[in-house]
Amino acid sequence: RWAAATGDRKVLLAGPRSFCAGVERAVEIVERLLRRHEPPIYVRKQIVHNSRVVGELEQRGAVFVDELDEVPENATVVFSAHGVSPAVREAAKQRNLEVVDATCPLVSKVHGEARRFARDGDTVFLIGHAGHEEVEGTLGEAPDRTVLVQSADEVADLEVEDPERVSYLMQTTLALDEAEGVAQALRERFPSLRGPGSEDICYATTNRQDAVRVVARESDVVLVAGSANSSNSRRLVEVAQREGAQAHLVDNVHEIDIDWLAGARTVGLSAGASAPTVLVDEIVDALSGLGAVDVSERTTATETVNFSLPKEVRHR
Ligand code: SF4
Repeated sequence: RWAAATGDRKVLLAGPRSFCAGVERAVEIVERLLRRHEPPIYVRKQIVHNSRVVGELEQRGAVFVDELDEVPENATVVFSAHGVSPAVREAAKQRNLEVVDATCPLVSKVHGEARRFARDGDTVFLIGHAGHEEVEGTLGEAPDRTVLVQSADEVADLEVEDPERVSYLMQTTLALDEAEGVAQALRERFPSLRGPGSEDICYATTNRQDAVRVVARESDVVLVAGSANSSNSRRLVEVAQREGAQAHLVDNVHEIDIDWLAGARTVGLSAGASAPTVLVDEIVDALSGLGAVDVSERTTATETVNFSLPKEVRHR
């Protein structure tokens, strides 16, 4: 098996890949708190959906909890990049917790739209995946008026109070083509449907999907660094597969199956928005153990987005 996988190969890096501005900001918030305060620093849910990031922060004194009742009263708690529902904010107040909010501003934007549409009396369709933390947070803005829609097939059976007063929103990390298919089905069934002012699927999701699509067309196999619970990483694998490439999600270099590389002369590489660049470096290193690698990059966008930190950690 090893013999079949050895040989010289081309490695095509998808650009952009890896951390987005929202993840950079969320990780920086926890790092700054760890530098300034005695551990533990509590974080509700995984700060971002990546096992390496979470593991490293844990080692430095971050404590990840599922719910706020695991946090001692009066302690500091960080809300993850995926956002929280108003009920969670209220629960934090009840426990007198000091909150530092690492919700990505692009998730907050979707929350704002949910509140606005619900206030106008709309039934709000949220296109997204059940159980994802971002979806749970957004649904919580107007639980009585928001309906989760996971696929175009569900649209025919939707029941609404007033078909003239309907709007839709999206989870930020969906595959653009799939989500647009659901929005189109909603538009056909509800011609008065209103949508968000600007795309809910964020720039980082879109850019990483565009880049992996280009790389997939040229590659025999595509590896995407990212954890299994990372929505945007999983979508990168699916986008690459829709381009006809073999594609696999790997949480770390040890998850690469040597059989995937047999006969693969060109390997495409990307990483989800929550996956650190070191994972990509480690994969390149591993590939170079099998033969000479010629690394080049296909860049489809340059990113300059940068979000300011919350006031609690702004000053060093
Ligand atoms: Fe924000 Fe998009 Fe990154 Fe999510 S993927 S943290 S919405 S920039």
